[in-house]
Amino acid sequence: MDLMYKSTRNSNVKVKASEAILKGLADDGGLFVPDSIPAFDVSLDRLKGMSYQEVAYEVMKLFLTDFTEEELKNCINKAYDSKFDTPEIAPLVKADNAYYLELFHGATIAFKDMALSILPHLLTTSAKKNNIKNDIVILTATSGDTGKAALSGFADVEGTKIIVFYPKDGVSPIQEKQMVTQKGNNTYVVGITGNFDDAQTGVKNIFGDKELAKTMDNAGYQFSSANSINIGRLVPQIVYYVYAYTRLLANEEIAEGEKINVVVPTGNFGNILAAYYAKNMGLPIAKLICASNDNKVLYDFFTTGTYDRNRQFVLTTSPSMDILISSNLERLIYRIAGNDSDVNAKLMAELKTDGKYSITDSMKAELKDFYGNYATEAETAATIKNLYEDTGYVIDTHTAVAATVYDKYVKETGDKTKSVIASTASPYKFTRSVMEAIDEKYSTKGDFELVDLLSETAKTDVPNAIEEIRTAKVLHDRICAPQDMKATVMDILNVK
Ligand SMILES: *Cc1c(COP(=O)(O)O)cnc(C)c1O
Repeated sequence: MDLMYKSTRNSNVKVKASEAILKGLADDGGLFVPDSIPAFDVSLDRLKGMSYQEVAYEVMKLFLTDFTEEELKNCINKAYDSKFDTPEIAPLVKADNAYYLELFHGATIAFKDMALSILPHLLTTSAKKNNIKNDIVILTATSGDTGKAALSGFADVEGTKIIVFYPKDGVSPIQEKQMVTQKGNNTYVVGITGNFDDAQTGVKNIFGDKELAKTMDNAGYQFSSANSINIGRLVPQIVYYVYAYTRLLANEEIAEGEKINVVVPTGNFGNILAAYYAKNMGLPIAKLICASNDNKVLYDFFTTGTYDRNRQFVLTTSPSMDILISSNLERLIYRIAGNDSDVNAKLMAELKTDGKYSITDSMKAELKDFYGNYATEAETAATIKNLYEDTGYVIDTHTAVAATVYDKYVKETGDKTKSVIASTASPYKFTRSVMEAIDEKYSTKGDFELVDLLSETAKTDVPNAIEEIRTAKVLHDRICAPQDMKATVMDILNVK
């Protein structure tokens, strides 16, 4: 029997994994969630001898049950190959009092590569399985990293086009340069004169536009999403938590069955939700530590039970976490509401109309394994500096938010449980912020000069992804207002 996926807003909607991947979002605006979370069918002890690719198969086969073994292994092998600069794919580095799970060894040096290098293959395989003849148009709103990772994953993949919207003034210079230099005849990059939430709302509105869907279908197109709401992104993200645990076991850092904590720098709540799913599969995780920057809507939610997006949007040095609507939180809300789509749909309607909702005390009790806190800009910078000075290890701003929150957690609770911090970006992606945190004197230097200085400081090689863009030509210069996103899409596809 196949594992079915339901909409978080209507339990009567049930689709197979491949259909959920193709659709991205359910027609009612809900997110697809597995009917139940599968448990491992091999022991963690057996997994500890396996490669990343083998662990990926053992985890993903439980969620994507309508894929054949051959199809799934094919997708995995095409994704996790020499695009990654280490055969370990996601190495664990011990520094200070924690283990950093480096998720940035893929093509675009941020953790989004972990999922977006496999999503195009899952998607094209799903299209074949479902006899789809239309070209698939990927629409993506990005706070910086998803965009490049998606562009890189989909570039020149036959039967697909990809359009990426990013906040024109809300991403780092290197992030922007990475995107606007993207090659591939099927890639389009658009800066919008708004913030990430505007971009995300615009994309959601286009997805929800039934009339537009008909027009597109007539023209031989259908939309899909590469955003972290797609189950085809969520499932591959579960893999590295399992992998990290098995490496700790293999290296005898932990004993079998010993619980670990997981610390995740959070924006859209996708990465930490994957850790929560891993825990629900049976991975021994104690606390899920949710780290926010000054956009601390999730910290407030975990402490008060009220999610309230009515606040000033703050631009920080961890731009991939500058988010006030954490889309994937809906999957958690659905679950703590006892998998009740009516309760969830009502709360999401409140979020849309009032910008906020409150959960009940019994729902709040279901959140006991989560701990939320946040890091200010000054704390984040100090963490980068201190860790570098103490250990020589250089982390990026997002990872530093997580490391700061982890320190707060340990001070508050005294909990000595071994902890894995998700290291979500290479410091080379946020070179300026990282170098200025280490020493103010770097503020006068140019972006690429700083890259070389970082290489000297961290004693690491400049990643390929950065070398490439030093001299690359700008290929995309489209800009539009948030309200013109639909017209822009129609113009790009030449659809009237
Ligand atoms: C996207 C991103 C995050 C946030 O991940 P979510 O899954 O959206 O919570 C954190 N750090 C970096 C570097 C990212 O690119």
